[in-house]
Amino acid sequence: MKETFKTIKEALQLQNRAAKLLHKVSPNFFPVATLYALVSSLIPYVTVYFSAQLLQELSNNRRPEILIRWAMAATLCGGIFLLLRAFLYQRYNTLQDALYGSKEILFSHKFFSMDYKDLDSQKIRDLHAQIQQNENWSSWGLMRASENYQIGLCNLLGILSGILLTISLFTAPVPQNSGCLTILNHPVFVLILASCILMVSLLAGMLSAKAVSIWGQQAETMTLSNRIFGYFGKFGQRQGKSEDVRLYHQQDLIRHYFQKIIPLGFGPSSSMAISARSSVGLYDAFATGLTALLTGCIYVFTCLKAWGGAFDVGSITQYVGAVTALSSNVFALVELAGLVKANAPYLEQTFTFLDLPNTMYQGSLTTEKRSDRKYEIEFRDVSFRYPGTDNWALRHVSMKFHIGTRLAIVGENGSGKTTFIKLLCRLYDPQEGEILLNGINIRKYKYKDYMEIFSIVFQDFQLLSQSLGSNVAGSIIYDRKRVEKALSDAGLGERLSSMPQGTDTPLYKDFTEDGVEISGGEAQKIAIARALYKDAPFIILDEPTAALDPVAEAEIYAKFNEISGDRTSIYISHRLSSCKFCDEIVVFHQGQIVEKGTHEELLAQMNGKYAQLWQAQAQYYTEE
Ligand code: ADP
Repeated sequence: MKETFKTIKEALQLQNRAAKLLHKVSPNFFPVATLYALVSSLIPYVTVYFSAQLLQELSNNRRPEILIRWAMAATLCGGIFLLLRAFLYQRYNTLQDALYGSKEILFSHKFFSMDYKDLDSQKIRDLHAQIQQNENWSSWGLMRASENYQIGLCNLLGILSGILLTISLFTAPVPQNSGCLTILNHPVFVLILASCILMVSLLAGMLSAKAVSIWGQQAETMTLSNRIFGYFGKFGQRQGKSEDVRLYHQQDLIRHYFQKIIPLGFGPSSSMAISARSSVGLYDAFATGLTALLTGCIYVFTCLKAWGGAFDVGSITQYVGAVTALSSNVFALVELAGLVKANAPYLEQTFTFLDLPNTMYQGSLTTEKRSDRKYEIEFRDVSFRYPGTDNWALRHVSMKFHIGTRLAIVGENGSGKTTFIKLLCRLYDPQEGEILLNGINIRKYKYKDYMEIFSIVFQDFQLLSQSLGSNVAGSIIYDRKRVEKALSDAGLGERLSSMPQGTDTPLYKDFTEDGVEISGGEAQKIAIARALYKDAPFIILDEPTAALDPVAEAEIYAKFNEISGDRTSIYISHRLSSCKFCDEIVVFHQGQIVEKGTHEELLAQMNGKYAQLWQAQAQYYTEE
């Protein structure tokens, strides 16, 4: 992602917000991460401390009982700390894996709750794809924020313990009789070394952070390669796709992407590889070199002080170990500050998505449940354009639905039939005109209430890998008798009786071997049964017979009268033969209503659109 400059304060605010959000979805993660950081940061110093005591005793008094005592204490303490860390590591890792899933729920919730127009928007889909890509690339975004917390705390605690163990290195004086080495007691020396430790750690940390951030910036350039890889990588393994792959040699087309396109992103001449060989590699090498140099200086200073008699040889281990650990913690903290800053734009992108406002007007009126089903809907001069397009998908559409009647909407593909239904159930609001329910603009009703009056079977309906009954009822607990009736009304009664587990039969085999694979036609009947089960005053079937064989199609038509009962039903189709039985037929053409009437009335208009379509289709059937 292009560097969007953020100050460390802004970056920390974003980091903090991310941590709070993650804490909400996984309340155990941060307490465990805190404990894990505490224990991990103490371990190096525990080791350093006990080794120093042992060496000190060995180089001075060499008392066996004291040595044994120190050795036992070192083993016990070290053991306890290591065990604790191992336990916490397991917990931390498990919770982090779980966090990965919980965080995905945040995105799913957003998709479930955002305005439909946004769900449909390519810009928003791209934004989400980019957020996923950032995470796949280097865990940029929320996951990085969770790691940052644990690492930062570990470094801070490490610095604190390091300072405690190092103070005496600077304060212990070289005895006055040690000749020129007494110069090491001079405060300037102490100041120089302390500043060296600080400066080198800071510089090395900054260089390393720079390397990580340059690496991270590749996330955006890698998006296309990653998407292509995601799409084609497992293409051959996808069920239902492999037939076409074999028949139409799609493997050759796919191979082209693997050989020519994907290497542009991942190959040796990709920008990723070039930056690894140049800037990223150089920054990393400098950072490592500086740290090695600093360790050398610390060795020299500590050894000289021990030589001069400021402390005994045993303490050299403690001081070198502690200063090295201190310096690497300062280094890591600076590196982390760079990472927090580098992560800020990615977090900002994540929050842009999660904060996306719902701009559709939310009304407050309720659509009181009427047993007489007297809900009258009117389109009044409605025009609509899909967001981001210039063409009117619907233009000046006016019509009234007569309560309890069967209305057919016909027209060629792309004439606006589905769009009309999408506006009716307020997935979008029209730019011009208004839609009224019992004389009141539908925007003024509570959306949830308004949706309750519709049962819709969309062309691209979706069934879930759950029991047949749950699918029909839209709920885990359901009224078995009503589900069976709905299925039988939709024409699936015979199939249901052949299922050993009845309405408990799982659909599809995603989760169980017992699942049944259903045909397109059966799926469509289940979707129709689901609409019937909802028992709403309006029933809308959008091309419901597209996947049905002619026998099943005839069956549905014959049943349609019975199915719709006293509901107002709307039937969308481009097969005119299926609309003959409707009370009124509305013909759409290029987003406008061009004709209205019964089948006979419309056929009588010889030059009309309906008659034209009818002739074309009749001819097609005759030829067949
Ligand atoms: P029908 O249902 O009659 O086949 P639609 O209502 O699906 O027609 O489409 C009407 C017009 O709106 C077509 O020109 C189609 O290309 C366009 N359209 C449909 N859906 C979208 C969308 N999500 N974004 C942009 N244009 C769309």
